[in-house]
Amino acid sequence: MLNLKKSAAAFAEAKTLMPGGVNSPVRSYANVGCNPPFIARAQGDKIYDIDGNEYIDYVGSWGPMVVGHAHPNVVRALQEAAARGTSYGAPTCVESDLAKLVMKVYPSIEVIRMVNSGTEATMSALRLARGYTGREKIVKFVGCYHGHSDSLLVHAGSGMATFGVPSSPGVTRGTAQDTISVPYNDVDAITKIMEEMGDEIAAVIVEPVAGNMGCVPPRQGYLRTLRRLTEQHGTLLIFDEVMCGFRASLGGAQAAYGITPDLTCLGKIIGGGLPVAAYGGRRDIMMKVSPAGPVYQAGTLSGNPLAMTAGLETLKIITAEPEPGEADYSRMLTLKTKKLLLGWQEKARKAGVAIQAHQAGSMFGIFFNEHEVWDYEDSCASDQEAFKVWFLSMLEQGIYLAPSQFETLFMSGAHSEEDIERTIDAAGNAFEQVAKS
Ligand code: PMP
Repeated sequence: MLNLKKSAAAFAEAKTLMPGGVNSPVRSYANVGCNPPFIARAQGDKIYDIDGNEYIDYVGSWGPMVVGHAHPNVVRALQEAAARGTSYGAPTCVESDLAKLVMKVYPSIEVIRMVNSGTEATMSALRLARGYTGREKIVKFVGCYHGHSDSLLVHAGSGMATFGVPSSPGVTRGTAQDTISVPYNDVDAITKIMEEMGDEIAAVIVEPVAGNMGCVPPRQGYLRTLRRLTEQHGTLLIFDEVMCGFRASLGGAQAAYGITPDLTCLGKIIGGGLPVAAYGGRRDIMMKVSPAGPVYQAGTLSGNPLAMTAGLETLKIITAEPEPGEADYSRMLTLKTKKLLLGWQEKARKAGVAIQAHQAGSMFGIFFNEHEVWDYEDSCASDQEAFKVWFLSMLEQGIYLAPSQFETLFMSGAHSEEDIERTIDAAGNAFEQVAKS
């Protein structure tokens, strides 16, 4: 049995201090019925709790840690930056360095604005879309999560899905009324809405690879349909690549599927584990943002020098030219992920457990479901009890996964071949537990 005694005591105290003992809901492990390990440190692909347990980590802080934890280049650059002062609230060169590197891999981003969280990025992109088009309504997809700003907390996935809250108290009816939600991956649904009211819709916002109803890639041609319909109605297409950016491929889903959005939201990896996100896109739209234009948006810590430094060092690693004969970083991650998932599928088959596996580059996940999973409804129809048994068995065996089937898992450059073999073997045992349950 895993010893989580110190974590249990720490969690008991935390529960007296913070709602549910945490600063973000899914961390509480409420839906898997065990105490969350309290983390002491992390290095490479390993994470260590305060009871001294070591785990192979596939959460990676929910995505950002693509080069592994405490990468020496990132740590060194951060130490040097910290010694020069942690915040100035004034322009710095490192902001432009990070902007240029992001734009190199995201050519659709002609102008960019750095913010502190994915929530801020999507909220600001929507305000901009409304300001630019003079329209009020937006369309989002059921089970897509875009952070917790009011207009996006309607039919959101992830923590919201995990806790079965369709939308949150505190979001006014007026706000919710301007948000239209339609099923993801359903061409007829979005076509109908756009035909009926496309000319009133400022923006369609989508996770081009959904990651908050579990990992669910777009069906073939789906993103192209969104592009065509939005163009026809003068509606902006916003790709929320906070999660799939730098993961679906280096250039995100837009490069992987060859679709150019009007605006893109990025987060997670672009901060290398510090709080950074960004929104950007077409110059004529972005020039409406203050102080170039009238749409207001600001931030005391936006472009923070430590955060920019962590992002820049991380992006330098993943965009580096590969050694001759070697795969580039993104391809290397994709191949490792494929190997892990093939191993899991093989083990599941042997144990007689039906799963659906999805991968988009270095994002991946499985559903305990005998049917294909293409939208939120399919995802909800997966066996949550089987997931729980599987999750707890993996944790016991030192494999740290997201504690919900509605979350996505992430590969990093620090995961070794040996780790992957170990994770496949552990999954075999876990599937056998599921078969017995
Ligand atoms: N968009 C997507 C696609 C996300 O996955 C998330 C968070 N997981 C967000 C936005 C919100 O980002 P943050 O938690 O940094 O506010």
